[in-house]
Amino acid sequence: MSVSHDKLFIGGDWVSPSSAARIAVRNASTEEPIGEAPEAAEADVDAAVAAARRAFDDPSGWSQWEPTQRGAAMERLASELEARAQEIGRLVSEQNGMPIALSPLIEGMTPVGTLRYMVSLLAGSPVEEEAARFLGGDLIIRHEPVGVVGGIVPWNYPQTLSSFKYAPALAAGCTIVLKPSPETVLDSYVFAEAVLAAGIPPGVINIVPGGRDIGAYLVQHRDVDKIAFTGSTAAGRQIAEVCGRLLRPVSLELGGKSAAIILDDADLDLATIGQNLFAATLVNNGQTCYAGTRILAPRSRYDEVVDIFAAFASSLPVGDALDPGTLIGPLVSERQRDRVERYIAKGTSDGARLVTGGGRPAGLDKGWFVQPTIFADVDNRSTIAQEEIFGPVLSVIEYTDTDDAIRIANDSDYGLGGSVWTTDPARARAVVRRVRTGTMGINNYLPDPAGPWGGVKASGIGRELGPGAIAAYQQLKTVYA
Ligand code: NAD
Repeated sequence: MSVSHDKLFIGGDWVSPSSAARIAVRNASTEEPIGEAPEAAEADVDAAVAAARRAFDDPSGWSQWEPTQRGAAMERLASELEARAQEIGRLVSEQNGMPIALSPLIEGMTPVGTLRYMVSLLAGSPVEEEAARFLGGDLIIRHEPVGVVGGIVPWNYPQTLSSFKYAPALAAGCTIVLKPSPETVLDSYVFAEAVLAAGIPPGVINIVPGGRDIGAYLVQHRDVDKIAFTGSTAAGRQIAEVCGRLLRPVSLELGGKSAAIILDDADLDLATIGQNLFAATLVNNGQTCYAGTRILAPRSRYDEVVDIFAAFASSLPVGDALDPGTLIGPLVSERQRDRVERYIAKGTSDGARLVTGGGRPAGLDKGWFVQPTIFADVDNRSTIAQEEIFGPVLSVIEYTDTDDAIRIANDSDYGLGGSVWTTDPARARAVVRRVRTGTMGINNYLPDPAGPWGGVKASGIGRELGPGAIAAYQQLKTVYA
């Protein structure tokens, strides 16, 4: 079934777009057209930013509401999204290939949890704090919303990553213009319906779907006060340059090439750890920024680790993202599959050993599928170990001792995720302390709203989520009382 949207969600209403440009979306599993929507033009971004500005500047509006009042509206939005979790999950699966076994939970429910976490933080987030002056007398410290936020997100977790931006922004009292990727525009319409149904005031959330040009236009818009970006490191650098010139606050959640460090005492029984291993490495068909795509294996158990990963990868059911039995769906687009296939060819030509996968799965003639692929004997300095592939491709890299494993883990431009696999909690902690990364899992990897989220080095600047999430959307004002 194909849907055709004619309007944009701006200023709390469905408005006609200013241009006739359209975004066409195809089902990643079947290549069939599944929907269309208007592509926002610069005039639409102007309208969205103006609506967000009006909503922000309203003297009795969102930014001036009591935190508890905002919290109640956010809880209504959480409930409306919860009611739509299945529908959102299905749309995301159709568009980007995320298996339906995961998408209602991940894409449907993570935003609900993120909103509720931010509401829980609001209870302990005073707008004004009275403090004593150090040199005598009184001070008031005000936590004021930063203003109009531009939120730009990629296609791999469109609803989850949007919520990492709008949930803390809304809690802080900001208003927001969200720019979804063209690959995943359809789910943003369900999100907009939830915003309307929840009674979020007009202009507090606005949506301008489009590509990189419209994103760049939003970044430099003179009425935007902060940019919150998730996407590739290349785009992040461009955005950081613009924001640097404008002195505009920006948060950057960028790419990754995380290490999964298997210690020599790890329990590698797939019956026990298979599910956690999947979450840490191949979830969402490898289209995951934090995926542990470098498997660091001790020399003493190297062959065993390679065999286990080969068995693991080849056991994962590959198929239509809407089939409940599927664990590996297609990639988001033909362009993305081409890119992944080029990396697989490069791995082989650079001398890595292809252990399993490497091609397109048999019997799936339509859809942008790539088999789960394991390379062994990979040099950590080679292209497939250094660059983000963003598909179901893992490299097993040998290390000699724990120091060597940590050296290899840190020998990367990126630092977003990572995991350590061991039966010894003390060894796990010792490794975690030494890996230069923003997040790390012990015998698993599962992000949570209470944990600050973000990376170091080329993986970005700033943190989303966690106890400081709302503060990232506020400015402090000191009043010498
Ligand atoms: P991308 O950088 O090409 O696009 C991301 C978004 O930014 C899209 O909406 C795009 O239209 C927009 N965009 C691109 N260039 C822009 C520019 N110069 N100015 C303004 N907007 C611009 O990335 P992608 O291919 O859509 O997504 C995959 C990337 O996202 C991967 O590198 C992945 O690691 C990263 N990612 C990071 C995280 C994280 O939390 N760190 C999470 C998910 C994905």
